[in-house]
Amino acid sequence: MTSPPFQYARPSGVDDALAAAAVPAAMYLAGGTDLLPLWKAAVVAPARVIDISRLALATITATDGGLALGALARLSDVARDTNVAGKCDLIAQAIANSASGQIRNMATVGGNLLQRTRCPYFRSADLPCNKRQAGSGCGALAGENRQAALFGGSASCVATHPSDLAVALTTLDAEIVIAGRSGERRVPITNFYRLPSATPDKDTTLEQGELITAVVVPDATRFAGRTTFLKIRDRASFEFAVVSVAAALRIDAGIIVEARLAAGGVAPMPWRLTASEAALIGKPAVEATFAEAARVATNGAQALADNGFKIELLRRAVARALQDIGESK
Ligand SMILES: Cc1cc2nc3c(=O)[nH]c(=O)nc-3n(C[C@H](O)[C@H](O)[C@H](O)COP(=O)(O)OP(=O)(O)OC[C@H]3O[C@@H](n4cnc5c(N)ncnc54)[C@H](O)[C@@H]3O)c2cc1C
Ligand code: SF4
Repeated sequence: MTSPPFQYARPSGVDDALAAAAVPAAMYLAGGTDLLPLWKAAVVAPARVIDISRLALATITATDGGLALGALARLSDVARDTNVAGKCDLIAQAIANSASGQIRNMATVGGNLLQRTRCPYFRSADLPCNKRQAGSGCGALAGENRQAALFGGSASCVATHPSDLAVALTTLDAEIVIAGRSGERRVPITNFYRLPSATPDKDTTLEQGELITAVVVPDATRFAGRTTFLKIRDRASFEFAVVSVAAALRIDAGIIVEARLAAGGVAPMPWRLTASEAALIGKPAVEATFAEAARVATNGAQALADNGFKIELLRRAVARALQDIGESK
């Protein structure tokens, strides 16, 4: 199939990039590992492609116990950066479990957060999908829905978000730094993604033409040695999560004083497990506490025909992740 004509721009500064993106259907190109396959499959058809690879947004900086990750930092560089590895292990673990070495060498932080769902209907231009083509229907609801969401879906869309990094960043309360033509804004990651409701075509609160410039991770040193990223997938590498859990605990004299948990593969966005967090706080870090946190993790889950197995899988993943942390020194 021949691609419709498109314009190409390669700006060298953020302001030029924002100006170039001020036309409908303009799209930024970072590592291209998601955009190019979607473009080739005619799932997207950018009128103007703005190659942002020359922008100076690839730095990884330590900030008072936290981190500032440039939007164009490559995943492989982030995972092995000395400010990340050993200091913010949750991020390094999430990345190590993502994709393959080759893809991590190309994929960027900003692109990873904005990758689109792996729902097979979305990625096939000739199948019904409200996210790809508004009003065409949701093929997954009554069709292939093994990967579909347990939480946050709607009658329009039940797709899950595929990013592993986003799950770790949700546990760590990261903020997304966004540049637009009217200035810069920072959005907590929990407010960055949006649920499908009746408009599943829009995955995030990013406006057309806005550019992610960085991701800021607050000080997480209080969780040192007490974090884990557990990913369950259909094969051991090069595969997206069926279910994942990113967990961080602060334990004082055997009592859990702070808990952060988010799950991947179960919702249209990284899904914060607030009921599990509440079940952990003030309790001893023992198996019975972890079992109760796992039990309530699936409160409110709604299964379709083929994804009900994820309910028990999520409970077991939460219990195992907490057990791993509880046993760590
Ligand atoms: C076989 C395979 C397996 C994979 N497995 C995993 C996995 O297990 N876990 C996982 O998390 N990911 C996985 N991925 C996805 C991969 O990590 C993403 O494709 C990658 O992170 C996207 O980054 P990119 O820089 O290539 O983005 P691009 O493809 O360049 O862009 C993706 C989207 O983000 C937009 N964009 C990019 N940067 C910016 C910015 N700074 N501001 C605004 N918009 C921007 C683009 O316009 C586009 O819409 C896999 C991919 C493949 C192909
Ligand atoms: S679940 Fe969402 S992405 Fe998948 S077919 Fe339905 S509308 Fe499309």
